[in-house]
Amino acid sequence: MNSTIPATPELSVIVPAFNEAEGLAAFLAQLFGVLATCSDSYEVWVVDDGSRDATWERLRGELARYPQLHGLRFTRNFGKEAAILAGLRQVRGRAVVVMDSDGQHPPSLLPQMLDLWRSGKAQIVAAQKANRDTDSWLARLNARLFNGLMHTLTGLDLEGASDFRLLDRRVVDTLLAFPEKIRFFRGMTVWTGFTTVPLAFDVAPRIAGSSQWSTAQLMRLAVTAITSYSAKPLSIVFRLGLFGMLAAFLLLLQAVYSWFTHVAVSGWTSMTVVVLFFGSANLLGIGILGAYLAQIFDEIKGRPEFLVGEILPAPAITTQHDITASKTI
Ligand code: UDP
Ligand code: MG
Repeated sequence: MNSTIPATPELSVIVPAFNEAEGLAAFLAQLFGVLATCSDSYEVWVVDDGSRDATWERLRGELARYPQLHGLRFTRNFGKEAAILAGLRQVRGRAVVVMDSDGQHPPSLLPQMLDLWRSGKAQIVAAQKANRDTDSWLARLNARLFNGLMHTLTGLDLEGASDFRLLDRRVVDTLLAFPEKIRFFRGMTVWTGFTTVPLAFDVAPRIAGSSQWSTAQLMRLAVTAITSYSAKPLSIVFRLGLFGMLAAFLLLLQAVYSWFTHVAVSGWTSMTVVVLFFGSANLLGIGILGAYLAQIFDEIKGRPEFLVGEILPAPAITTQHDITASKTI
């Protein structure tokens, strides 16, 4: 850690970055401009999530400018959730803010977030998107589907929620103490139940580049978020099974009745519908079981959530490419 920064700064800012070379310098200028006005002890950790552009080189270039700036680089792209986790493990601040590196989470909100935390009114300050004007219709549809699904299946209301939040040290330590892997930062912070104050903000346009989330990635995040947060889909399948048994029983009664009354078997259509319906219900059920199984499989493999390729400024003891660093931090 840089010698100008106290061991426990008041504020740590974690910034996940994936292919943000173009806008990074402008974002850091904005961020440090605001930080200088609202805190006298802070550190910033940019977590480069295996960018394939010049993000890391740009960051290296900025280090001389800001003594409070640090960089951590993954060996490859492990995803934003892993980047947030790496940051949480790395930082020492008494308050920790997670924010995007593309300028969409305005640094100008930081003083207000800090004031709420300093006054003791909030252990979590959750910035809430007041609008989605900067999103494309597809991104809005994706978000709507994602939040709707999460709400029905887990009871979590994430409409407007973002990863832009301030967490008290106690919240961070609680999250890090979970034996399970944290896969869904937003949801897990809500789950802890610490005093949360929402703070509305207007999503700013990206400084440069375009959003990195594809629909497939969001789908994957939804599946892991849901299966790691709630077992409700399993009980839905169970209820579907009960309903199927009831329907089958009624059909059995009808079959027996027509056998007794010698009515000719006239049921090809209904038979086909029943077979198709329960056939696909079976597949769906197996799919859902599979998703949970995959979750358990991932969990018991116990692989690290990410591998660190490099840390800047380089800590005295670790070598340049010490990939075991993720275990020691
Ligand atoms: N990001 C990341 N890893 C990824 C994808 C994105 O660290 O695999 C970062 C990205 O650099 C940005 C933040 O996560 O700082 C939000 O990403 P993006 O702007 O693409 O998403 P959106 O704003 O559409 O939610
Ligand atoms: Mg963005």
